[in-house]
Amino acid sequence: MRSFPDFLQKAQQSGVAIGHFNISDLVLVKAVFDAARELNVPVVVGLSEGEREFVGTRQIAAFVRSLREEFDFPIFLNADHTHSLAKGIEAAKAGFDSIVFDLSALPIEENVRQTKQAVEAMKAVNPSVLVEGEIGDIGTGSEIHESSPDLSKGLSTPEEAKQFVESTRVDILAPAVGNMHGMLRSMVGGETKKRLDIERIAGIKRAARAFLTLHGGSGTDDEDLRKAIAAGINIVHINTELRVAWRHGLEHGLAKQPDEVVPYKILPSVVDSVKQVVGSRLQLFNGRHVAHGT
Ligand SMILES: [Zn+2]
Repeated sequence: MRSFPDFLQKAQQSGVAIGHFNISDLVLVKAVFDAARELNVPVVVGLSEGEREFVGTRQIAAFVRSLREEFDFPIFLNADHTHSLAKGIEAAKAGFDSIVFDLSALPIEENVRQTKQAVEAMKAVNPSVLVEGEIGDIGTGSEIHESSPDLSKGLSTPEEAKQFVESTRVDILAPAVGNMHGMLRSMVGGETKKRLDIERIAGIKRAARAFLTLHGGSGTDDEDLRKAIAAGINIVHINTELRVAWRHGLEHGLAKQPDEVVPYKILPSVVDSVKQVVGSRLQLFNGRHVAHGT
């Protein structure tokens, strides 16, 4: 099995992006894995600190590793939005393939200083772990927001990106380029879409010369996502769209069988609902024809 960096390099050369989907239960893992296998594309499942707290850091590492080995399939594991070195070390020890070390809420000088230290400390635990750094402001909370925060002042610049990557030696950079965590209510129904600053992405790619991740991909205009990938985005994160599909699938499964108590008879509705979103997003990220938009 080739490693995560190999697949990232291959995606970069092919002009496609790897899909990253947040999971916090077995149903979500199953939906993401099934969708990726049907399309035969590599995939990343990620867990924030809160999601890891719920599932178990070592437990999910063992579970994902067992899928990768038994099916000889490129499913990788990311420790999403890790805010302390202790949590980063814990993920590195558990065998996560990558760690998002997120101190973007701190002033940039402090972010640089602490991220640099964290890169060294986490790679001392596992030299092959990839570390991602975060700059700019893209808001917090992969959930439904009633109003849009003003993120215009927190946009990343190519100069800042270059300096951050060179100073910290991160493998992957997550810039702020019009993206935002969570979705506005109007985005859930598709009346509005997030729009990305494609020129900014291209400028950051030229300057930083690192792999780039787009966080907060849920609810983004499809064409903007295609252009962002062409401009240098290598990984796209989707969380809120999955959470919405998870809830809808569960409500549907319960309503369809009001007297059922067997989890494995109710939960396939959730798998189907989430899988549809993951499949559609993976097709788009991998340059395949998308049968139906999300
Ligand atoms: Zn994120």
